[in-house]
Amino acid sequence: MASLLAERMQESFQEHVQEDLLMDCMRCGFCLPACPTYIMTGQDETHSPRGRIALMKAVRDGVVKWDGSIEEAFDVCLGCRACEPACPAGVQYGTLIEETRHAIQEAKPTSLKEKVIRKVTFDGLFADQKVMAGTVKLIALYQATGIQKVARKIGFMDLFSTQLKEMEAVLPKIALKKPKRETTALSTKVAFFTGCLMETMFQQTNQRTIELLNMLDVEVEIPPGQQCCGALHGHSGEVPKAKRNAEKNIRAFHHNDYDFIVQNAGGCGAFLSEYGKLLGTEEAARFSEKIIDISSLLVKLGLLEKLPQNNNDSSAIVTYQDSCHLRNVNGVWREPRALLQAAPGYKFQEMPNAAGCCGSAGIYNILQPEMSAQILKQKMKGVIEVAPMKIVTSNPGCLLQMKVGIEKEGLSEQMEAVHIVDFLYESMINYKKGV
Ligand code: SF4
Ligand code: SF4
Repeated sequence: MASLLAERMQESFQEHVQEDLLMDCMRCGFCLPACPTYIMTGQDETHSPRGRIALMKAVRDGVVKWDGSIEEAFDVCLGCRACEPACPAGVQYGTLIEETRHAIQEAKPTSLKEKVIRKVTFDGLFADQKVMAGTVKLIALYQATGIQKVARKIGFMDLFSTQLKEMEAVLPKIALKKPKRETTALSTKVAFFTGCLMETMFQQTNQRTIELLNMLDVEVEIPPGQQCCGALHGHSGEVPKAKRNAEKNIRAFHHNDYDFIVQNAGGCGAFLSEYGKLLGTEEAARFSEKIIDISSLLVKLGLLEKLPQNNNDSSAIVTYQDSCHLRNVNGVWREPRALLQAAPGYKFQEMPNAAGCCGSAGIYNILQPEMSAQILKQKMKGVIEVAPMKIVTSNPGCLLQMKVGIEKEGLSEQMEAVHIVDFLYESMINYKKGV
């Protein structure tokens, strides 16, 4: 039975994991210090990028027979892709780990429970924006009707895992109704990829994204029919389902020739910018070229010039937690910092290891709670050193994770975690009011 699985796994690796990409790795080890799991495991090679690539090759070549310890090495990878910018050979680690998870998913026997969870998550919640909106509405009702208060009081949340309990405690107040949006005709036009979590759980941030762009004379169009970007599917070995979502999104944005497709969630943006690679079509590549994150677009549109300069005398410190994918895949890290440095009423201060993963990584904090908690603990040491009033992030997962970190450290009286759009919006409104 075990050898049958090993054979099936080898065949699946041969089918899905590209050998030429594996051969790009020259085993130099420059990626090792950038890898959070290598550091957290006390430099365990099997939890490093180089070690994982070696394991992928060994399974593909049949040198190592498949077993649980190999699977664990791949499961513990955050997919943060911090190893990519550190690699002098340009190894496409992100593609390799996605292909590996796809290969495992295809060959591994799946229990009924896992099948059901995957079906509900990938074919329901993250396949259809309406299902996501309906689910988040239930959370809004749970908050608005007072059930949340009762549930907390009677300890109902204790029935769930620590991670879910921690997440529930930091959920934003969700509006029951969607804000009314009117399109204003302005000189530049962009399309907005609203994102499934951002458009349901963080509606106000999306609304403010539109308003910030309107302030800069930009008309924002929201093409109907857009779906979840597919990142969660792609990172979980569900590549065909990720492709299905990508195709739907390309169709949704096809009818107009936008200069930019803007998004405000680092993880989604990175995946959208790799549709060209995922689907291998010209149309997908054209779509990907238009993807831009909100910080880069605001800088491009001249927001920095509209903000007061030499604003470093405030005692209110703001710091920035990079979104791994925005930084490591899209190379965007200067723009958010430049905006925070110019934001009125705050002094920007870099925290130690700001570029390191916070441990959120999609649903990693639920699947790998121990490693995620260790990484967050380490992250919070850097936060405590800087003692900011605001921790700014560019991704909903990082935002919730930093909120959990603040709660865990008992720092909610001193600081809060906010999305960069909310931070800039409030800072600009206060500046205009002269506060
Ligand atoms: S992934 Fe890149 S940096 Fe890491 S060992 Fe291979 S070649 Fe070197
Ligand atoms: S993606 Fe992140 S966790 Fe995974 S090997 Fe690369 S640096 Fe390490």
